[in-house]
Amino acid sequence: MIYHHIALNTILPPLTYSHTAEIPLGSRVLVKLRGKTQIGIVWANQVQPDIDVHKILPIIQVFNDFRLPENWRELIQFTSRYYHYPIGQTVFTALPSLLKENKIIEPPEAPIYYTLNDVGKTQTPPPKNHAKKLAIWSALLSGSLNLAALKKIHPKAKDFIQEYEQLGWLNATTLATPPIPPSPHILNAEQVAATTAVKSHLFEYKTFLLHGITGSGKTEVYFDIMADVLARGKQVLFLLPEINLTPQLLNRVAQRFPDMPTAVLHSQTAAGARGRDYLRAMLGQAKLVIGTRLAVFTPMADLGLVVVDEEHDNSFKQDNELRYHARDLAVWRARQAACPIVLGSATPSLETWHKAQSGAYQLLTLSNRANELAQLPDISVLDVRRVPLDNGFSPQVLNLLKENFKNGGLSLVYLNRRGFAPALFCADCGHTFGCPNCSAKMVLHQRARQLRCHHCDFRQPVPHSCVECGNQDLTAVGQGTQRVEETLKNALPHAKIARVDRDSTSRKTDWADLYAQIAANELDVLVGTQMLAKGHDFARLNLVAVLNADCSLFSSDFRAPERLFAELMQVSGRAGRAEHRGRVMIQTRLPEHEIFQAVKAQDFALFAEHELAQRQLFNLPPFGFQAAIRADAVQMREVVDFLNEIRDVIAPLLPENVWQMGAVPMLMARLAERERAQIFVESADRAALHRALGLWEQVLAQYRDNKIRWHIDVDYQEM
Ligand code: ADP
Ligand code: ZN
Repeated sequence: MIYHHIALNTILPPLTYSHTAEIPLGSRVLVKLRGKTQIGIVWANQVQPDIDVHKILPIIQVFNDFRLPENWRELIQFTSRYYHYPIGQTVFTALPSLLKENKIIEPPEAPIYYTLNDVGKTQTPPPKNHAKKLAIWSALLSGSLNLAALKKIHPKAKDFIQEYEQLGWLNATTLATPPIPPSPHILNAEQVAATTAVKSHLFEYKTFLLHGITGSGKTEVYFDIMADVLARGKQVLFLLPEINLTPQLLNRVAQRFPDMPTAVLHSQTAAGARGRDYLRAMLGQAKLVIGTRLAVFTPMADLGLVVVDEEHDNSFKQDNELRYHARDLAVWRARQAACPIVLGSATPSLETWHKAQSGAYQLLTLSNRANELAQLPDISVLDVRRVPLDNGFSPQVLNLLKENFKNGGLSLVYLNRRGFAPALFCADCGHTFGCPNCSAKMVLHQRARQLRCHHCDFRQPVPHSCVECGNQDLTAVGQGTQRVEETLKNALPHAKIARVDRDSTSRKTDWADLYAQIAANELDVLVGTQMLAKGHDFARLNLVAVLNADCSLFSSDFRAPERLFAELMQVSGRAGRAEHRGRVMIQTRLPEHEIFQAVKAQDFALFAEHELAQRQLFNLPPFGFQAAIRADAVQMREVVDFLNEIRDVIAPLLPENVWQMGAVPMLMARLAERERAQIFVESADRAALHRALGLWEQVLAQYRDNKIRWHIDVDYQEM
């Protein structure tokens, strides 16, 4: 008997099963676990059983269809270790459902590429009056084409192919690269510098940060490098946020890389198509793999380039089950494949920016809009400290909106709702209340009359006056935008107003409808949150009003200012992308705040410099590493006690340079009828942090009931 470790969809480590012969690693097998048959992946073979061999069950069936390759298994192994998530469940997160099915999978049919062979080339071409037949001939003479491409030239292409094949004039192969037409643009000097830099490192691991404002031509840069890599027959993995994976983008890809076998993998791809595309990528048939975060787990036969567009985007981090960051795993994959990776953004994450500053990543900059006619928007900051607001609107902003409506423009009212927790603020001098122990802003707990730090759990009674100026009239911020639409309707009774949020855009067709309405001039004002900032291009949009930007500056989430900056830049990028200069008006009670200086100047580097200095002061990422241990239960007391008890068990074993705080409620403490709290574990030493998390994992593993649920979130993005 030969013993194997099989990875199964369970929290248990790979389990031992026997078979009469050795089964290759990565094979799919069928086994029994607790009386039920399950699909598993062979994770190790020829193992020494460490339990009584009579208790070891046999493998029921071996599927000899597909084997997950070694580099894929390494990726899974790393992911499981880094995110402290069971290996079997990591495997099953990364597999499409097709590969989890109890049946033999048919291999996808490889496209066949045709070209004229030496005999064919010496034949007389078809006469000129058979224009289409001649076109097919010329195409076969100049390169390798598959049937789909040939049919576009002539619907009867198949007949000619059969005829030429019988005459022995053709070479047919599955291993070719379709020709790539040249770019319609002449790249500008900065674009050329960027592509040249990457192309001079095509055969080694190197991370590039492509920093360029919206519309500066980043996509053209990716395409140019991709063309080079694809022409060499290698594969490209192109990751982007769900919301950016639009039909427009796919059209652009299809135009630039026609006939390139492409796999598109995202959460809405139908299961069957996803499984097939996964296999096509694994077998090297699909050359270009485009997808959202889950596509980072696609096995690829010959990876030659990774691109992560909008690398700062939060949607690359999965916030349930396996809490991986696709951008970080993408960098790991590029290293493994010894190929370059390009991270692109107008507002890079501070982690990435810091690495580009220190030289670990190479910075490539595009500083102008590619289309010379497209002007940068005009951004102003409006001090509303002493302005009476009507549901969040200043009279100035309402007037601008009215005027724009009169002139037939399209306006966007932008609400900032992220990471919000009520905070206290002095309306006179702008003072905000920070925690004396850490950088976090204190959260206002109205009922307890307390300010609490949601990072280290420091508490204090609500002060009666401002410590800075003595003003006794302290206000809670973040309220007062509940009835935005009502105010808008009163101010603009004839305008057509649409709300754009998660609910109104949940279906695939919703965005298309919205675009159609905008194109048909059926809307005058859009009201929305983060959803609106990303990836969408509304040609007519020429006025953006940001009502409550300040919420982010009072947030106890240290990443809130970074997100605010990115969103303000993005939302501003929406204004006036065509020939008309857009206008952006940001209301604030903190007009002197550095972030607004940087926003006005549209200067990411300025913002990053200030923000990184703050982060360094408190050892926050990228200067320190963090994880959150989270738990939830019906009662908050239970959750907090649970976490703090384990914390005390671990404390004596904790590596010296690791800190763990007390349990604090999450920013959104209540979700689906459960109370949620967390403990932060931090260190400047990543390895030490992981040792500490290993301890947590061991202790937590003993609690597997539904009363208290827990998880570990490494490099957490949300608090
Ligand atoms: P980004 O990805 O940075 O937002 P894109 O690559 O989408 O920018 O480019 C923005 C617009 O400018 C697109 O319409 C694109 O076709 C055009 N463009 C990009 N590069 C050039 C160039 N070198 N010459 C002319 N137009 C360009
Ligand atoms: Zn604190």
